[in-house]
Amino acid sequence: MKVLVINCGSSSVKYQVVESDSGERLAAGVVERIGEEGRTHSAAVKEIVEATKEHGVEAVGHRVVHGGPKFHDATLVDDEVKAAIEACVPLAPLHNPANLAGLEAARAALPDVPHVAVFDTAFHARMPRRAATYAIDRELAEKHQLRRYGFHGTSHAFVARLAAEHLGGDLRDFRIITLHLGNGASACAVEYGSSVETSMGLTPLEGLVMGTRSGDVDPGLVLKLARELGVDETDRVLNRESGLKGLSGLSNDLRDLQAKAAEGHDGARLAINVFAHQARKYIGAYATVMGGVDAIVLTAGIGENSADMRRRILQRLEFLGVRLDEEKNFDAKVSDDDPVRDIGAANARVRTLVIATNEELEIARQTAAQVQGAKTIAVKKPIPIAVSARHVHLTRESLDVLFGEGYELTPYKPLSQPGQFAAEEKVNLIGPRARIDGVRILGPLRPGNQIEISRTDEFKLGVDAPVRHSGKVKNSAPITLEGPKGTLHLEEGLICAWRHIHMTPEDAAAYGVKDKEYVEVAIKGGPRDLIFGDVLVRVKDSYALEMHIDTDEANAAELGRISEGDIVYTDVYVEETQAEAVIQSKSPAE
Ligand code: ADP
Repeated sequence: MKVLVINCGSSSVKYQVVESDSGERLAAGVVERIGEEGRTHSAAVKEIVEATKEHGVEAVGHRVVHGGPKFHDATLVDDEVKAAIEACVPLAPLHNPANLAGLEAARAALPDVPHVAVFDTAFHARMPRRAATYAIDRELAEKHQLRRYGFHGTSHAFVARLAAEHLGGDLRDFRIITLHLGNGASACAVEYGSSVETSMGLTPLEGLVMGTRSGDVDPGLVLKLARELGVDETDRVLNRESGLKGLSGLSNDLRDLQAKAAEGHDGARLAINVFAHQARKYIGAYATVMGGVDAIVLTAGIGENSADMRRRILQRLEFLGVRLDEEKNFDAKVSDDDPVRDIGAANARVRTLVIATNEELEIARQTAAQVQGAKTIAVKKPIPIAVSARHVHLTRESLDVLFGEGYELTPYKPLSQPGQFAAEEKVNLIGPRARIDGVRILGPLRPGNQIEISRTDEFKLGVDAPVRHSGKVKNSAPITLEGPKGTLHLEEGLICAWRHIHMTPEDAAAYGVKDKEYVEVAIKGGPRDLIFGDVLVRVKDSYALEMHIDTDEANAAELGRISEGDIVYTDVYVEETQAEAVIQSKSPAE
C-alpha cells in the first residue's frame, strides 16, 4: 500500500511516500519555516499533497506524539478519534497541536483516503501498572493523568522486530533492550513482544542523558531550581540547556564533543562519560526487570554512528553475557537497505546489534495494517471455548520424585485435544505466602515441567508468574510441588498461560489466519460480552478447534453463567461452555 507519512512539527512538516510492503521510499521531503511569513501547516500540507499526487497515495499515516492513556495502537481517524487526540493536548502542549493541524489539513486535502494516527506512546501503553506508576498520591495522579507514558514507540517497535528477525524468531520469543540514542534518547525493555519498561515518562524529559535534556534528576532538584529561577526558566534549562550541551558547555552534537574531548576538553569528556554511564545503568536495570536479556539494540544518530559511544556503553558487561567484537563494532555501518549489524563476539550469549531505525516505514506499515485489518473482520464460524483450571504438566523425573520411582499416571478423563488426558493424580503447590492443594496433573508426561495458574492464584501463592506461551518456561517463576512420596522445588516452570486457540489447517484457512498469528476474539451472547486481544493462533493437523482461557479470563466474561451445569470452576482441566467466540479481527499489534 502506498502510504503518505506526515510528521508535522511546530516549525516544519516532514513527509515521505512509502510502499508499506516493500519498504521502498517513493518520495521524501520537508517543508520548513512554518509560522514565518504567514506559512501555515495547512498550506504546507497542501503543497505536500500536490507534490506527491503522482504516486497515487492510498492512505495517510500521521505521527502523533501523545496518545494519552486511551490509545494502545495506531488508530483510523474519524471525528471522535480527532477529539480524543485533542484531549491529549495538555499532556503534550508543544507537539499534539501541530500534529492535529497536520491531520486536519491532510483530511481536508485528501478526503477520500483513510487517515491513521500512529502514536509515539502506543507501543508502551500496555506496560505493566507497576512500571507505569509513579509513587505519588494516587488521587492526584489520577486527576492529572500522571503516569509513565513513554515515547519513541515506533522506533523501539521497529528495531525490536528487526532484532527478532535477525535472531531467527518471532518478537514474542525474545527479551530485547532497545536504546534509541539520538538527539532525544530513550531505552526500552521489550519482553516477549511487549514494552514492559521505558525510560521516558510523563514527558520526554525523563531517563537517559540527551542532546539538550537532562534525563533523570532528583525531583528535589527541580523544586530547588523552580524556587530559584521560576518555573518557565527551569523548564527551559532542563529541556534546552542541559544534557550533552549543558554538561560540555559546547554543543548538543556528540561529534563536536568527541573532537573536543580528544583535545582534552574536560566538559566534553564529562558529558560523554555521564551519557554512557546513564545508558549502562538502564541496561542493567532492564535486564533485571526482564529476568535476563537476549539482545541489546543500539539505534538512532548516536547508536547507529558512534562506535566509540557504543563501546563505552557496552564495556564490562561480560557478567550479563555481552561481549563486543571491537573490530565489528568499529566497522559497523547500517542503512535503510542494510539495516542490521551484529557487533557481538561470536560466542557471546547476548547479541549486540546496531540497527538503522526507520520510523516512517514503521508508521507506513502500521497505517497499512490498520486500513487492511479493518477489512478482515467477519468470519462467522464460532469457536468453542474451554476454561483451564490451574493444572500441572510433569516430566518423568518429577513424577518419580513426587509419586515414587516408575509411577504411572491413571487417566481420569480424556481432554478435547487428542491424546491428552486429565489424570486422577493431584499435587499441592506451595508458594512463599500460601499453598493450593489438589492441583490436577495432566498427561501424558512431557519433556519439561509446566505449572499453569491464574493471576488470582498468583496472589494467593505470593508468586509472580509471567504470562507465557506453553513450552516457554525458561526464566519463568519458581514453585514447590508436594506429592505423596516427595517434595520438588522447581527453579522455573510456573506460568500464567497465554490465551490461545487450537485449530486445524482447514480451520485456519477458513478464518484466514496463520500459525503463530495474534487475533482478537469476541465473546458474544453472554451477560458480559467482551473482546480478548492478543490471542495466539496455534495450527496443527492433530488439534481440535478450541479456544483456551483461564478461570480469571472466563470470570471476566462471566462464561460460567452460560455454561451448562456446574462445570467451569471445578478442578477439571477443560470443560466446554456454551459460549462461543468469533475471530473479530487480526490484532492491530501484528
Ligand atoms: P533526532 O533525535 O533529532 O532524530 P538523530 O537520531 O538524527 O536525532 O541523532 C542526532 C545525533 O546523533 C546528533 O546530534 C549527534 O549527536 C549524533 N550523531 C550523528 N552522527 C554521529 C557520528 N558519526 N558520531 C557521533 N555522533 C553522531
